[in-house]
Amino acid sequence: MQTMRAMILEAAHSPLHLAQLRVPTPGAEQVLLKVSACGVCHTDLHILDGELAEPKLPLVLGHQIVGTVVQSGPNAQRFQNGERVGVPWLGGTDGTCRYCRRGQENLCDHPSFTGYHVDGGFAEYTLADERFCFSLPDAYTDVEVAPLLCAGLIGYRTYRMAGDNVETLGIYGFGAAAHIITQVARHAGQKVYAFTRPGDTEAQEFAMRQGAEWAGDSTRMPPEKLDAALIFAPVGPLVVAALQATHKGGVVVCGGIHMSAIPSFPYAMLWEERVIRSVANLTRRDGEEFLALAPQVPVKTDVKVFPLEQAGQALEQLRNGQFTGAAVVDINLA
Ligand SMILES: [Zn+2]
Ligand SMILES: [Zn+2]
Repeated sequence: MQTMRAMILEAAHSPLHLAQLRVPTPGAEQVLLKVSACGVCHTDLHILDGELAEPKLPLVLGHQIVGTVVQSGPNAQRFQNGERVGVPWLGGTDGTCRYCRRGQENLCDHPSFTGYHVDGGFAEYTLADERFCFSLPDAYTDVEVAPLLCAGLIGYRTYRMAGDNVETLGIYGFGAAAHIITQVARHAGQKVYAFTRPGDTEAQEFAMRQGAEWAGDSTRMPPEKLDAALIFAPVGPLVVAALQATHKGGVVVCGGIHMSAIPSFPYAMLWEERVIRSVANLTRRDGEEFLALAPQVPVKTDVKVFPLEQAGQALEQLRNGQFTGAAVVDINLA
């Protein structure tokens, strides 16, 4: 019996710990991947903190997985052994519910989310349904491409929901998704206004280096009004702040899976056709579009790497805003 190292979550609020697990065997449509890198995401923190309440337990977290195919299940024929693929948050759908039938598989009634309903990528090996894997652009190393798989493509879905009439774009919460989407927006000729935790000058300087027009505290108003705002921080009051900063017809898009309560506000702030909306998960089409676009921009990811054993520390540093850009677990790092 072959075993592997994996970081395990036994229960919400308990720290991840290293364990030896059996290397799993691929089911009919699955591939077995030798993991090389896996991005760290705010959603992992929400699972750790019990804010997403239905994880499989014990659980291997991680849903921005880069790995190579080492074995395919009996009905899996899409990839050859040795091929590099990416695994995102959407690990499977029922394919039959009303949402799947109308091209909204991101809203599937019976989804299987990677690193939540099924084990994810903070391990030496993982399984994935080959139909939900992506081929990855060659221009990126394993560590560089990992953050594109959630920060990048859910960030991209969030960005698309802002619509086409956007000259000035606000981004609240300047972490992994924001640093990627700023580059995409600049490439489209849009001006980006970046908002960070009050006093976080390091993140503000980072935003300016990514091409932001202006960066400041989230308590401030931008120097000009916004056509749209994207919110990547799980902080409800930012919705009101962003609404206040938008033009008539402006769109505020919430990109996270969990957020603290949104305070009440006068209707006048929403009046004049302003819109607040959320974004949930991703479709495979989002992933294919974004992974084709990223090397054209070209999006460059700013990555802080951690060895597998330090996946828990990576999550705590993410919580505390202790690094800029994206955190990635590099399985080959000793
Ligand atoms: Zn994520
Ligand atoms: Zn469905």
